[in-house]
Amino acid sequence: MKYTNLKDRFIKYVKVNTRSDEKSNTTPTTKSQVHFLHDLADELKSIGLEDVKYNKQNAYVTATLPSNIDQKVPVVGFISHVDTADFNSENINPQIIENYDGKSDIPLGQSGFKLDLKNSPNLSKYEGNTLITTDGTTLLGSDDKSGVAEIVSVMEYLINHSEFKHGKIRVAFGPDEEIGVGADKFDVKDFGADFAYTVDGGPLGELEWETFNAASLEIKVQGYNIHPSVAYGKMINALQVAIDFHNSLPQDEFPENTKDREGFFHLLSLDGSVDQARMSYIIRDFERDGLEERKELVNKIVERLNKQYGEKRVQAEMHDQYYNMAEVMKDHMDVVELAKKAMEDLGIKPNIAPVRGGTDGSKISFMGLPTPNLFAGGENMHGRYEFVSLEVMEKAADVLLQIIKLTTEKEI
Ligand SMILES: [Zn+2]
Repeated sequence: MKYTNLKDRFIKYVKVNTRSDEKSNTTPTTKSQVHFLHDLADELKSIGLEDVKYNKQNAYVTATLPSNIDQKVPVVGFISHVDTADFNSENINPQIIENYDGKSDIPLGQSGFKLDLKNSPNLSKYEGNTLITTDGTTLLGSDDKSGVAEIVSVMEYLINHSEFKHGKIRVAFGPDEEIGVGADKFDVKDFGADFAYTVDGGPLGELEWETFNAASLEIKVQGYNIHPSVAYGKMINALQVAIDFHNSLPQDEFPENTKDREGFFHLLSLDGSVDQARMSYIIRDFERDGLEERKELVNKIVERLNKQYGEKRVQAEMHDQYYNMAEVMKDHMDVVELAKKAMEDLGIKPNIAPVRGGTDGSKISFMGLPTPNLFAGGENMHGRYEFVSLEVMEKAADVLLQIIKLTTEKEI
């Protein structure tokens, strides 16, 4: 095998619980990520990378592989995140299925859950592959330990194969992607790359350079609570007003009714009483204008409800979270083309589609470093049905190598 330590490295990484915590305000949000990042920094030093640094401010570990050629070529960066999604991640005990036949059910340990073709038709693509799955009690954390393992293994490969010519390469491993804050403090200047890729996508061939524009919305409703026996004409039930708000949104623009390039309003939580109610939403749209129109619609509904129920009964607070990286990438399409060519050179069909979400690259691109997203290999991410093919992880690593090779052919 070309990347001798890829499998063991991946298994070692996923066994460490690095779940992020939305309720925490620290950077990173959990101590376990600090431990993982420190161990990772030690590993990067031990394989021979230089300038290995853990930056306390943003909880990124960065490192350099110096150029081994004379000519000046662009500095390419690779980035992945170490935290895992909001699902049990204690005692992750991966199962390895060698030479999978492409059709059988895979029991997930003793949990009673199984991977089957009916619910995971994607399994059929993996005939003959080595699959790594969960034991049914946790997630796997392939998102994004695959990306971490692939990047580190490629760096190790290059250090052990000095005949492979390359320019300067920078790598970064960071926290808290799954809760959407990890890249907020990414230091583009310190990273010093000319362009970069996050290695955080799903199945073979994924190449993403378009994401949603995103905003959060909090609705607060102040009701007027009075005994129901004398409520006539007086009571304002905050829960009823909240329901009115929700029902005023276009009902065909909820996640369950939208796909492809359609945006949505998504109600995440609703709680309250007659006296007060609160709702949390996320708003998504591929067009910036579309996002603004959605925000305007919210303001109009709030205005109408306030006319109906009295001033300031309903208050909306909206915050932009990230923007469609296509706005930046459209001026740097050579970075996308390079990844596309790397895949095609290896016989991998690039699957370029807009992400119905965001990536760390959405934020980093807007900070001035064009950063599309490459596949890392994971399937059924964020739960017990998550799995990854070792062969696809190797191909993801091959794509990084090919990008590095193609970069040496770029003039500067
Ligand atoms: Zn991820």
